Amino acid sequence: RAKAEFDRRICYYERDMDEQARERRDMARDLWTALEQNAFYLAYQVQKSVSTGETTGYEVLLRWNRPGHGEVSPSDFIPVAEECGAINAIGVWVLKMACLDAASWPEPYKIAVNVSGLQLAQVDFIETVRSTLFMSGLAPHRLELEVTETSIISDKQRALHILRQIKAMGVSIAIDDFGTGYSSLETLRSFPFDKIKLDRSFMREVESNEQSKAIVRAILTLGRSLSVPVLAEGVETRAQLDVLRKEGCTEAQGFLLGRPGAIDWDDRLESGLTG
Ligand code: C2E
Ligand code: MG
Ligand code: MG
Ligand code: MG
Repeated sequence: RAKAEFDRRICYYERDMDEQARERRDMARDLWTALEQNAFYLAYQVQKSVSTGETTGYEVLLRWNRPGHGEVSPSDFIPVAEECGAINAIGVWVLKMACLDAASWPEPYKIAVNVSGLQLAQVDFIETVRSTLFMSGLAPHRLELEVTETSIISDKQRALHILRQIKAMGVSIAIDDFGTGYSSLETLRSFPFDKIKLDRSFMREVESNEQSKAIVRAILTLGRSLSVPVLAEGVETRAQLDVLRKEGCTEAQGFLLGRPGAIDWDDRLESGLTG
């Protein structure tokens, strides 16, 4: 009896696995097709100074309208792209398009580009960054690469070596989703980051819960002690922004300040004076 039940469950489990594997394979195939057919596009989300309200730059977020499925979140398709190897070609495409766009923006604005750990590990990654800057005409100090802690953990020495070379070019490096990894402080100690992006989970209840506020305050203090600016992700309410201002956060990004999308320069100019 128990054996039959066991077999039945295993059978369900395996069928489930098959299903998932098939879905990943289908998605991988569609990702390669999308690359070929230029079906990806970019959304930009504004980043602003907390104290002045001025725009400091934009983060580029990859978008994909998958035929038959509609908009798929990068949180769902980036892992598949990493698994099937498409991430490298996709990453090169994002970097190139984003730098070309940013080269025509008003001078001070920076462009922040997400980079997968697998991209960093590519032997030609440095060369890709260098040639993209050259080709687009974008000044290196206007490019920022966002890396997550988990993406550099596998081969720390190598990651450190690569990040140093990138910094030597004048490009800056931000640590993304800070605080969610399992050794954030150690990572911070050993890598030369130019910015800390505080994960958006920390914004939850920051205005109402003293404990949440205490943690955010501690990270902001840490950033100040290390002379590394902190950007808060996922700012959705005025109350959250008020806390960040009071606690001395450097920059903020989130739906309150702007949703990811196309940049409307006219709109920005009109509302520009009020931030
Ligand atoms: P991320 O780099 O941490 O990007 C921020 C994510 O938070 C974006 O989700 C953005 O739309 C979302 N977001 C921004 N403001 C708010 C807010 O106020 N509230 C909430 N709830 N969410 C907010 P998105 O675009 O779905 O991207 C998810 C993740 O996918 C990114 O997280 C990044 O890790 C990855 N990703 C996106 N584009 C690329 C890319 O070009 N290359 C790589 N390697 N990864 C990418
Ligand atoms: Mg990011
Ligand atoms: Mg993030
Ligand atoms: Mg995130």
